[in-house]
Amino acid sequence: MNLHEYQSKFRFEEFGIPVPHGKVAETPEQARLIAAEIGGPVVVKAQVLTGGRGKAGGVKLARSPEEAEQHARAILGMAIRGKIVRKVLVDPAARIKQEIYLGITNDRAARKPVLICSAEGGMDIEEVNRTKPGAIIREHIDPLLGLRGYQINALALGIELPYALWRPFGKIATGLYKCYVDSDATLCEINPLIITENDELMAVDGKMSIDDNALFRHPDLAALRDTSAEPPEEIQAREAGLSYVKLDGQIGCMVNGAGLAMATMDMTSLYGEADGIGPANFLDIGGGADAETVAAALRIILADPNVKVILLNIFGGITRADEVARGVIAAFTEHPTDIPKVIRLVGTNEDQGRALLQAAALPNMSTAMTLADAARMAVAAVKGA
Ligand code: GDP
Ligand code: MN
Repeated sequence: MNLHEYQSKFRFEEFGIPVPHGKVAETPEQARLIAAEIGGPVVVKAQVLTGGRGKAGGVKLARSPEEAEQHARAILGMAIRGKIVRKVLVDPAARIKQEIYLGITNDRAARKPVLICSAEGGMDIEEVNRTKPGAIIREHIDPLLGLRGYQINALALGIELPYALWRPFGKIATGLYKCYVDSDATLCEINPLIITENDELMAVDGKMSIDDNALFRHPDLAALRDTSAEPPEEIQAREAGLSYVKLDGQIGCMVNGAGLAMATMDMTSLYGEADGIGPANFLDIGGGADAETVAAALRIILADPNVKVILLNIFGGITRADEVARGVIAAFTEHPTDIPKVIRLVGTNEDQGRALLQAAALPNMSTAMTLADAARMAVAAVKGA
């Protein structure tokens, strides 16, 4: 889960990182009032869960409250990389002497968090990595030892930070690492960390990603989730405990197990490729797929107008196939639909499962024994539809 800039910076501040003291506005009038309260120049910043807002015109300096209102009017409602702006942050404008990059993420290969720093802040760090890889300095952090003083010094030296700023820089790096660990984050990023005209360090932009699997122990962070920016099906799926990703094909896939779901997508893509047919989604209904889970999955799949066929690919392992069959029948009874259904049900208790499906005689249903057959049949059904 990604946090907005303002959420990230408010959190950074709790860890002793200096940030501008701005406020969030949802209307141009609010932006004007906040700017008036701040007094002096402000910066109006689009709050969307994507980077590159500056380049897209989503970050604008204003010298007066009226100008802040105008900028807010232009920015609110605009789309940045497909995301609609619904809030702006109004911050006191910083006077920037230099822009630094400072971020922490997981280095999976090293199995450690890595602190990344560059004197070439402001722009995308990926871009710096491409064009000037030497300008990026990395320090891996041993989670048992934590961030050590000598590592902070190595970064400060590496970016040629003026010596007078080493101590505040150390506080910021330490705070960022503590924030990263305490939040179960997968990314804590300040870009830019600026040196102001008064020779002070300040985090002008902030970004945090939280590990979804750890959110259960951070109800305060989970509550920050901005669902207005997510597709409604993905919100429904999360609430029902399903893993769902919408794709642009026509075959609604309902599968138990992430690996099997990916194999199902591959097979439908393979057989459908020549005709522009493919999976409409990735959907893992998980282990204990009961009637309620299957019904929730079905609702989500049917809500997608692109779906022409439903392909159920169920492997009965710990979940017995007859149980899943009951779930499927209950779900289709609750949401009757004529849409073609291709069902492949194998594994534990498959005979009972298939017998139940035959007896239920769902409209427009066909069954397959192998995944290849099921995928071919689903593609053919899309062509026929
Ligand atoms: P991003 O484009 O989404 O990364 O948004 P940022 O918050 O990083 O802003 C982009 C750029 O706008 C920064 O790199 C700065 O150059 C500039 N900027 C942001 N805030 C201020 C500010 O308060 N004062 C000044 N002068 N420039 C700013
Ligand atoms: Mn930035």
